[in-house]
Amino acid sequence: MIQDSFHRKIEYVRIAITDRCNLRCFYCMPKEGIPYEPKKELLSYEEIIRLLKILGLLGFKKVRFTGGEPFLRKDFVKLLTKTKNLGVYDSINITTNGTLLLKYLDLIKELGIKNINLSLDSLDPKRFNKITRRDDFNKVIETLNRLIDYKFNIKVNAVIMDGINNQDIIPLSKLALENNISIRYIEEMPFNGGNKKKTDLFRARDIFKVLKDHYPSINKKEFIHGQTATKFSVDGFKGDLGIIAAFSRTFCDSCNRLRITSKGSIKTCLYDNGQFSIRDFIRSGVSDSDIKSKFEELIKLKPKNGFEAEKSIKNSKTQRESMSMIGG
Ligand code: SAM
Ligand code: SF4
Repeated sequence: MIQDSFHRKIEYVRIAITDRCNLRCFYCMPKEGIPYEPKKELLSYEEIIRLLKILGLLGFKKVRFTGGEPFLRKDFVKLLTKTKNLGVYDSINITTNGTLLLKYLDLIKELGIKNINLSLDSLDPKRFNKITRRDDFNKVIETLNRLIDYKFNIKVNAVIMDGINNQDIIPLSKLALENNISIRYIEEMPFNGGNKKKTDLFRARDIFKVLKDHYPSINKKEFIHGQTATKFSVDGFKGDLGIIAAFSRTFCDSCNRLRITSKGSIKTCLYDNGQFSIRDFIRSGVSDSDIKSKFEELIKLKPKNGFEAEKSIKNSKTQRESMSMIGG
């Protein structure tokens, strides 16, 4: 078990296995996309597995594969299989836009992977197209329905933006009325890969107000350590609702995460600027024990919270990073 300097147990790694994406969600990427890294700049699957094995020695128990769109990377299922075979991770998770997942569903189920976060910002096809700048609404809904049929543990992630899709809060919530799934509303963060200002913030408290006005019986659920969402139950619902104050950053005290970006940089906080290239380190011929010590050193540098991390970035860049490189 490893702790940071604020006595937080760090045991959850999120890896962006690619920076590429087939959608262009405007809060994540400019319409022309971002300059993608050449393949050799990404961590190879062998490198990822080596890092996961070493993190396992440090007590890591949970891994999430994200991106970019993870299903765009060739042989992603092989990476999942190798991760499973490590026998280290209690919880293997995937975050996906759901456009390419269907043909892999059986394989994923056979592997025993149960936790899928699906991004879906609107139940209105026109708004979905406007936000993602692509025409894949039907595919994503079909994926959601199949995931429900297959009884995956599903979290639907929706970034809520004022005047863009705040009218979707209630329609999305109804998915959790009929189904045992979680709907999580996320504050927009300033990682859009461009120099565009983010939209006016629709804060966690604004989201809660919309929910409370509609569902007076809404009730806060017990907080579980490491959780980023404040969770709520509503009378009669099979699933639950959650609000992630990703910009207001109210959950940092219980943060248990480490991130590895698509280029193999370690981020101990989403808001820091990528402290260390573990990719260059691993490629310099170091031993497993050197890598383990490096992780220990980096975890001790994890900032107290996202505000401290932001302050420590010296040159505040006008060109923002994209979430597709960081791994949301
Ligand atoms: N492509 C996959 C997907 O969309 O699920 C995985 C990568 S995506 C970067 C992961 C999550 O980050 C998505 O749920 C997305 O909505 C969220 N995200 C992207 N940009 C964001 C931003 N600027 N603010 C808040 N969340 C963001
Ligand atoms: Fe792609 Fe996900 Fe970013 Fe949308 S949020 S552009 S689906 S990486």
